[in-house]
Amino acid sequence: MNQEKRKFLVNKAKISKLRLLFVLLIAFTLIASCDNNPPSMEPELIVFNADIRTVDQNQNRAEAFAIKDGRFVAVGNNEDVLDLKGTTTESINANGATIVPGFIDSHTHLSSGSKIVTGINLTGIREKSVWLEMIAERVKTMEPGEWLLGGRWDYTFENKGLPTRWELDNVSPNNPIALSDIDGHSMWVNSLAIEKANIRANSEVPLGGQILVNESSGEPNGILLEGAMQLIWDAPTYIRDSDLSRDKIEQVLDYANSFGITGVHDMSSRIELEKYKDLAINKKLFLRVFWGEMSKFTQEDDNTNNQKLINQLIREYKFHDQDVGPLIEYGFIKYVIDGVLSTHTAALIDPYSDRPEIVGEPFYIQGEINRLVKRANSLGMPVAIHAIGDRGVKMALNAFEYSGNTSLANRIEHIEIIEPSDIDRFKKLNVTASMQPNHGTGVIGKYITPRVGLEREKYAYVWNDFLRSEVRLALSSDFATSPFSPLVQLADAVFRESPSGLYEGPWYPQQALSFEQALYAYTQVGADLAGWGDQIGSISVGKWADFVVLDGALNDPVGR
Ligand SMILES: [Zn+2]
Repeated sequence: MNQEKRKFLVNKAKISKLRLLFVLLIAFTLIASCDNNPPSMEPELIVFNADIRTVDQNQNRAEAFAIKDGRFVAVGNNEDVLDLKGTTTESINANGATIVPGFIDSHTHLSSGSKIVTGINLTGIREKSVWLEMIAERVKTMEPGEWLLGGRWDYTFENKGLPTRWELDNVSPNNPIALSDIDGHSMWVNSLAIEKANIRANSEVPLGGQILVNESSGEPNGILLEGAMQLIWDAPTYIRDSDLSRDKIEQVLDYANSFGITGVHDMSSRIELEKYKDLAINKKLFLRVFWGEMSKFTQEDDNTNNQKLINQLIREYKFHDQDVGPLIEYGFIKYVIDGVLSTHTAALIDPYSDRPEIVGEPFYIQGEINRLVKRANSLGMPVAIHAIGDRGVKMALNAFEYSGNTSLANRIEHIEIIEPSDIDRFKKLNVTASMQPNHGTGVIGKYITPRVGLEREKYAYVWNDFLRSEVRLALSSDFATSPFSPLVQLADAVFRESPSGLYEGPWYPQQALSFEQALYAYTQVGADLAGWGDQIGSISVGKWADFVVLDGALNDPVGR
């Protein structure tokens, strides 16, 4: 008996600007082959009467495709594809709806996504008074002593300065609280958390980390920047993200699928990676995971210098399923070279416009990051470097130049400000620009102009300058720091407008992308970076059939 089980995930989500609902069908065909019958030549599924944006350069548009054994076997016009229909073929009339390849989000942290699922999620809440009310309510549901985690607060909405420990103490005297900000680069903690982690104003912190203090009393004020967050993570009673997320990670994977995401480049902990592998072995992983190991600040904890271990991890976690294709690969190493603009921790060449005494110190000296990148590349590992300020970006480029390896898929993450002459170096060094459209639009009308001034902001989020210089551009969400929905991110890339209406019209519209450019960067590029570009990333004959059906047809061209 030929027993077939086709798993389709059907979900809906709404996009603000494109005003579309979409239905996702991931054609992960799970076949339990337990017989020797000759295989049928008929396709299992035909989708026709669709507006297919294939992302395939040889055939940009199509009306129909056929799928067999989980792969596209025909892509073309209705007539030709429907000709292949056999007696057992299921066919779906898309009624003109747009279909795109499954989205590949090239930068995610799924484990921190689970922390906001289980702790508290302050994303998009503007007023601190409301955060405090929400925290007070949440704490009432908890046992005394239990940590409250999550966060994603954004103080730049109100712009009244950073919150303090004492405000949290008022609503939570008996529960330690540690809440990440929206960027995940600073943490807001209460007095009990400070006590549990034994933090003092003069506690030692890794390079670039900082314990902010109250100006008059000199004691920690409840904000920990960058590496100083490690003090909380090391607190004996703290529940690390990864412990917390073990049970919850599947919820986050479903959440990804609900937006049409069929692949991610994830930077979580090894515990999640193990979980993905378990799911894959049990044919329950519906998300392809290209995985990045985060380098640790302290050398003892850093596994990324151990060639034997790296080789073992590459072997151990490479999971390609014969029925659905590549599912997991231990693929790259990530270093973080600086912080973020919001807290003045991104490393700039010239001082911050609103804090002339600060440039933002990089977390590495040049020689050290050079050595780390060269070492990783020499182990065959591509490197991703988080670099937000123009000095951070330059240092990252210097490190890639020092490494001298232009064949690996090295990349720089975020690149929020760049010195214009550095754009061409990406092309020369074959470094991918990996950027997040909503990080760009999210700061419009907020802190970008105060932080860097009118002259430098021309070189902020220069998506299109990279394409014009023939640099490979990958787009992503950096979830949970910005919306996970690729449609929201694509709208941000195409329209480049403030999502909170803080600015009239597009901001530096010459940096906006066409829908086709943005879609390519959200599908094929992520596949290419993972080395899976000939297997997924577009709707092309021979590729695995990951696709998303939108609930309606896109404008042609996509725009206003
Ligand atoms: Zn990130």
